[in-house]
Amino acid sequence: MTALLDGKALAATMRAELAGKVTAFAARHGRAPALAVVLVGDDPASHVYVASKVKQTAEIGMRSVEHRLDASCTEAELLALVDALNADPAIDGLLVQLPLPPQINAASVLNRIDPAKDVDGFHPVNAGKLAIGEAGLVPCTPLGAVALAKLARADLAGLHAVVIGRSNIVGKPVAQLLLQENCTVTIAHSRTMDLPGLCRSADLLVAAIGRPNFVTAEFVKRGAIIIDVGINRVMSADGKARLVGDVDFAAAAPLASAITPVPGGVGPMTIAFLLSNTLRAASLRLG
Ligand code: NAD
Repeated sequence: MTALLDGKALAATMRAELAGKVTAFAARHGRAPALAVVLVGDDPASHVYVASKVKQTAEIGMRSVEHRLDASCTEAELLALVDALNADPAIDGLLVQLPLPPQINAASVLNRIDPAKDVDGFHPVNAGKLAIGEAGLVPCTPLGAVALAKLARADLAGLHAVVIGRSNIVGKPVAQLLLQENCTVTIAHSRTMDLPGLCRSADLLVAAIGRPNFVTAEFVKRGAIIIDVGINRVMSADGKARLVGDVDFAAAAPLASAITPVPGGVGPMTIAFLLSNTLRAASLRLG
């Protein structure tokens, strides 16, 4: 029997727990934790993500402040807004939704965010803290991926984990977190040789590639735990768009001991950990 790792359900449980903690925080500090979200331009997917973040923030009793800038805004304008939000004592968490328009250097903007308010965990200070095992703010999607792996097996120590993908926002931080869980970690990428053979040695396989249905049965060791981070929009035969992961679910699931669905796996966990990071940032700032 293959266990389905239900991110939607786990995220709902997390939000219920967070709502209680937010109430306690507000009672103690006289205000709820506050998240500022900056959205630049008209990217439709970004608008959907930001709306979802703002809605869920409010649902658990936190305050959210949305700032929208025109697609033509300059890097200097965006940096000035980041500076103002960094300096605002009523703001605990700050994120700038990616992608940014081409005239803006994303790294310059992310590096300008106060690391203490960096709820996406992308600032080099927080990436460095994760790498050396110091407490900091950790990226949300990797936290969600590892939480789902631990739902399959509470103690991951000693497992061989293969992470496909080496991006700074998913692959590398997932690998760091799995190292902290005492896995033996291999990071695979587009230049890895015999990728299916390597993946067949994985007890825990994490796919963060961005290619629909890339991981097929030949990648999967019998009994492996599979975490699919991929979110890919594809056209069905009926002409409708649907979301699929990086894993060919129908082919891989029968071999796995546990697997995440797409949608409903890692996706919902990302926002749950954003809320958790915001409460954490607020608690660390206000004591
Ligand atoms: P990215 O493009 O920055 O990185 C993709 C990685 O995959 C690269 O490191 C690359 O080396 C590797 N790769 C590409 N082609 C490969 C191949 N043929 N063989 C082996 N490795 C290959 O992407 P990302 O930002 O890390 O995102 C990865 C996926 O995760 C995307 O589908 C994205 O939509 C999804 N994602 C989901 C969430 C979520 O909330 N669930 C959040 C962020 C990203």
